[in-house]
Amino acid sequence: MPGPEVEEIKSRLSIVELIGRYVALKPSGQRFKGRCPFHPDDTPSFLVSPDKGLWHCFGCHAGGDAIGFLMKIERLSFPEALTRLAQELGIEVRTGGGEGKSKLLQLNQEAVKYFARELRKPSGKKARDYLLDRGLGEELWDRYHLGFAPAGWDGLVRALGREGLDTLRGLGLVISGEKGYYDRFRDRVMFTISDDQGRPVAFAGRSFAGDPKYVNIPNTPLFTKGTLLYGFDLARDAIRQTGQAVLVEGYTDVISFQVAGIGETVGSMGTALTDAQARLLARNTDRVIIAYDRDAAGEASALRGLIILRAAGLQVQVGVLPPGEDPDSLVRTHGADAARTALSEALPFHRFFVEALAGRHDVGSVEGQEQVLVEAKAFWSEIRSVPLQHELARELASLLSLREEEVWGYLRGDARPTPGERDRKRIGPEEHFVHFLLDGRLPERVLEELDLAEFCTEYRPIVAKWVELWHAGKRPTADELAVDLPPDQVSPLSRLALLEVPFSDEDQAVDDAVTRFLYLPRVNRRMQGVQVRLAEAEVAGSADEMQRLNSELQALCQERIRLLQRR
Ligand SMILES: [Zn+2]
Repeated sequence: MPGPEVEEIKSRLSIVELIGRYVALKPSGQRFKGRCPFHPDDTPSFLVSPDKGLWHCFGCHAGGDAIGFLMKIERLSFPEALTRLAQELGIEVRTGGGEGKSKLLQLNQEAVKYFARELRKPSGKKARDYLLDRGLGEELWDRYHLGFAPAGWDGLVRALGREGLDTLRGLGLVISGEKGYYDRFRDRVMFTISDDQGRPVAFAGRSFAGDPKYVNIPNTPLFTKGTLLYGFDLARDAIRQTGQAVLVEGYTDVISFQVAGIGETVGSMGTALTDAQARLLARNTDRVIIAYDRDAAGEASALRGLIILRAAGLQVQVGVLPPGEDPDSLVRTHGADAARTALSEALPFHRFFVEALAGRHDVGSVEGQEQVLVEAKAFWSEIRSVPLQHELARELASLLSLREEEVWGYLRGDARPTPGERDRKRIGPEEHFVHFLLDGRLPERVLEELDLAEFCTEYRPIVAKWVELWHAGKRPTADELAVDLPPDQVSPLSRLALLEVPFSDEDQAVDDAVTRFLYLPRVNRRMQGVQVRLAEAEVAGSADEMQRLNSELQALCQERIRLLQRR
């Protein structure tokens, strides 16, 4: 949840009045419409919803809350935008003056000490074991500000509460619920996120078991998500000396690599890489080697991250780790040399990009080849370097045994949809489902069986954040979530929240979305599984098994028909 000032600012600010200073807005139903200030827009495609506190451009993807709008149009950081709005509204903010900020940093420092003390207590044994298991010995705990947040609800509240619970809440360390304030981090190994001067600005807590694996603090006056890289303060000198940066995903990956002598390692902290992170790297080096684990690196979100790095003018290489290894486990099981070897054998960006596409589709089949081309095309408009486009076209052509001109022609094709068109087209059951989730209209029984793996990578962070807050006893609204997400993940959020879902019967529409997004695909997947096993049983000639599977298949068919009739 956002800090107290953010909530107060948002509740007192009129988003229509604020945006109206820059954009001529006309009422349209419950919303307001105008021409988007962020792209040449004659449609108009820019929507503002006062009751949701959000805006979204259905032409160019931009979207967010009032603070995000001001950040984007005036090119301000989150704390700067906050300060400006607070001044206008006459709200006292602890971000503006140097004194306020140093007080906040000092409080975070106290939290670092508290987590460190807890790590060394008898109750901290499982956290110590977790760290030692990963080769993170005691000599590293202080250097990396590692710690332990004990189980229970009020350890930190009691230890630091005298400093002001509202301030701690503004820092994201405590949450206020119906029964008062309680600790955000409970029973977790704690990692401290520092700014480029090594000052603690945020925390992440890793669970010992169960989801969510990581709890992070929201945006605060000290910290805007997606603007920092983990370990950067310790890596900067090495980055400048070696002329390169190594980018990994997780906290322990960074520490393991740095300790193994790869001092130029920084972490993207799990979320997809952002423009701001790429620019931070580009200010310090011109070469980046990515070392994600194999599955993670091949994902569409990681590929988009590579393109963001390229667009920031960086040379990008991808170190392909052995299957099943992440940077941390690689160092632990095979030693520092294995890590250096993986980095020295890193593939150039274009080769990796094409191989990752090939790895996701069966290029032996015509359908697979088509899918590779369709997916490559989805990234195409974001690749601005013409030589790189040619390089990619050449690699794709050789992969698919096509002529380079054919691939080039297809990728450049005039039929290329603009981002907006692509966006508007993709409104299916998943979009409706997330829309209803954000509106708080999904029934409890559905929320209880949500599986993050069923959501596409673009929506997953939004749903994950929603679920995290829901587990903490809230039903967050879309604009509350907006403050809790990195700025570049807010756009799908505002889009889905402002989506117009036409329906005559609301309950029926919700039911429909749940059936079409959750239940039908689940039944379909199970049917496919049974069919595969049925084919195997047929080959093996086991009649009993075939009979059993056939009746299972029939039951699933019935189930499917029942679901279809419900619509
Ligand atoms: Zn726009």
